[in-house]
Amino acid sequence: SDETDWELTDLDGEFDGEEHLAMPTLAVVGRPNVGKSTLVNRILGRREAVVEDVPGVTRDRVSYEANWAGRRFLVQDTGGWEPDAKGLQQSVARQAELAMQTADAILLVVDAVVGATATDEAAVKMLRRSKVPVILVANKVDDQRVESEAAALWSLGLGEPRMVSAAHGRGTGDLLDDVLAVLPETPREGTGGTGPRRVALVGKPNVGKSSLLNKLADDERSVVHDVAGTTVDPVDSLVELGGKIWKFVDTAGLRRKVSNASGTEFYASLRTKAALEASEVAIMLIDASQPITEQDLRVISMVADSGRALVLAFNKWDLVDEDRRLQLDREVDRDLVRVPWAQRVNISAHTGRAVQKLVPAMETALESWDKRISTGRLNTWLKEVVAATPPPMRGGRLPRIMFATQATTRPPTFVLFTTGFLEASYRRFLERRLREEFNFDGSPVRISVRVRE
Ligand code: GDP
Ligand code: GDP
Repeated sequence: SDETDWELTDLDGEFDGEEHLAMPTLAVVGRPNVGKSTLVNRILGRREAVVEDVPGVTRDRVSYEANWAGRRFLVQDTGGWEPDAKGLQQSVARQAELAMQTADAILLVVDAVVGATATDEAAVKMLRRSKVPVILVANKVDDQRVESEAAALWSLGLGEPRMVSAAHGRGTGDLLDDVLAVLPETPREGTGGTGPRRVALVGKPNVGKSSLLNKLADDERSVVHDVAGTTVDPVDSLVELGGKIWKFVDTAGLRRKVSNASGTEFYASLRTKAALEASEVAIMLIDASQPITEQDLRVISMVADSGRALVLAFNKWDLVDEDRRLQLDREVDRDLVRVPWAQRVNISAHTGRAVQKLVPAMETALESWDKRISTGRLNTWLKEVVAATPPPMRGGRLPRIMFATQATTRPPTFVLFTTGFLEASYRRFLERRLREEFNFDGSPVRISVRVRE
């Protein structure tokens, strides 16, 4: 048949991202020193526990990939988040609340030797409202003597305390079996979009990606630093920005600079692809102090192909003077033609300038990306536009546009049913008018044409 499907082919191409979405998240919460990290390491299957013995060490909230009985899932170590003595109860309760928003199942870890404390109870109070399954873990049950103390944790009202010794591995296999029994096959965020939005930080090497990640995490006092001796890189980082949790995906390479002398460019492009695939919105960094390069264009091209929402962050703005600024404007006009709809934010990851502006820009972009226009509104608009500016004649005939519908969101994808071929320039015209009418700032829009004779 005479069917022209332009760009729609991208949809079932390499960027479906479902692979990454398919992993549910298990969050491990509890007050400091109950053994959360030891348990996480145990779940990840490392023999040697990676533990900070110093109480009060702030750890970042990160996710690691785990595998038990052939099922893969993410383990979110909420760490000892802001464990200062006075705010401890609120802090642990808050941690539990975050887990309720971001995870698919939760382990609350309690120290069986110490017994339930007021802080544990604050967490329990919060977790009683949880819509996702919560399992109570009585840790440090190294031998039978502690079991009677552990049994006292029934009083917390979270059901049976699962007795384990994270340090020695006692009971952890049974615990994981219990976890898999309640953990859904797929994460809820993939379905309803209720989990944290997923962000990819992309850009050529040395553009400031890791500096920005650190700056963003820093501003919210969830210090990004490496836990001594950690051998497994976290997959994602959770960062609280503008009162919401965002999941920065595939940050492993950013947090821990992988030095690879050979094949850097190839490696970097694989990373970029993986991050885009796992994300909903990309922040693409461009070094504003230097001319835009081929390497930038390759990243832009990957972002455009990915169909993700996009924010362009012109970084190192602290180094930009008036001359450079004018030059940059020309480069942008020349080089960013594929993504004219992307919002621009001028930032400095170094000084922190304007980094908070990334949040509303991401929110706008995601809103556009999720937007659905009803068929009624769409066709009313289309009729007017086509009546005022009909498509150009082709072969002595005027193609008629009969009907339009929005086939998908994320990104918005429209299908036009016509009686003849539409010139690329006319399709671009329609996209422009569509954007003016319905506002898709920050999101790509795809238009597919189906020719019906
Ligand atoms: P977190 O602050 O909750 O992450 O706790 P850690 O994993 O850092 O552990 C705190 C302390 O408890 C460390 O000294 C661990 O060695 C110790 N610990 C962890 N699990 C066990 C356990 O099962 N038995 C015993 N006896 N000690 C443990
Ligand atoms: P990545 O490779 O994209 O993760 O880049 P990095 O975050 O490692 O940054 C590369 C270099 O640029 C480092 O020396 C940073 O200190 C520097 N840098 C990053 N952001 C800025 C900025 O906003 N201004 C300035 N002057 N330097 C920056």
